[in-house]
Amino acid sequence: MHRRHIVVLTGAGISAESGIPTFRGSGGLWFKYRIEDVATPEAFARDPAMVLDFYNQRRAQLESVQPNQAHKALARLEQGHKVSVVTQNVDDLHERAGSTSVLHLHGQLRRARSTVAPDWTMDIGYGPIRMGDTCPLGSQLRPDVVWFGEPVPAMDEARDVVASADVLLIVGTSLGVYPAAYLAHDAPAGAEIIVVDPEAREERVPGARIFREKAAGRVPLLVAELLENPA
Ligand code: NAD
Repeated sequence: MHRRHIVVLTGAGISAESGIPTFRGSGGLWFKYRIEDVATPEAFARDPAMVLDFYNQRRAQLESVQPNQAHKALARLEQGHKVSVVTQNVDDLHERAGSTSVLHLHGQLRRARSTVAPDWTMDIGYGPIRMGDTCPLGSQLRPDVVWFGEPVPAMDEARDVVASADVLLIVGTSLGVYPAAYLAHDAPAGAEIIVVDPEAREERVPGARIFREKAAGRVPLLVAELLENPA
């Protein structure tokens, strides 16, 4: 039934046109916040209330935005192909657009995690995590996101997914955050690699078809092309 395995690696850029700023692009979040102040374990140890507040704002903002044409087109792609989304994003816009296989490399805003038992997580919707909110073991809750300097537990699974791709479609990621960026090189020989990013850098994905365009315009066109060409 499914003709090809399309693996889609997405980054902050795919959600930019939904109104969620990227971290590094112009107008990106990091011009207002320093990474070390909000997205590291050291920051949380130093000032947990400030870090929680940063993510509470991100979560509240997420509730007010919608998937864009790029997220929706990727969900449509499942009508003709096996599709696996591997995302660096912590938003839930792929799921809300209807994608059914989404691996979150860097965690999810909508989930909270125990600070003593990392496997204990819970769905918190779009509400805040407050100081004093605890897991069943009594430890402070933290966002279930991977901070800079922390391991990426989903990486092995992601590498396996990419290794079975017939097509690797890379959308809206600078490929500057490791280890996630290694995935661009994990597609098997012979797989087609396509990149959609206005600031795509060819040396980071040698041999790829590159579209230096925004996701909401180009991704639906690529999806139409892939649906027309099953093999
Ligand atoms: P990044 O900020 O490093 O790169 C974003 C990329 O998106 C840039 O290359 C930029 O050129 C491109 N871009 C900007 N607008 C675009 C558009 N309309 N269409 C297509 N591409 C566009 O982000 P990253 O590579 O994802 O890595 C940074 C980390 O920040 C990741 O871990 C990610 O999880 C996290 N992050 C997540 C969100 C989110 O969940 N929505 C938002 C910001 C940052």
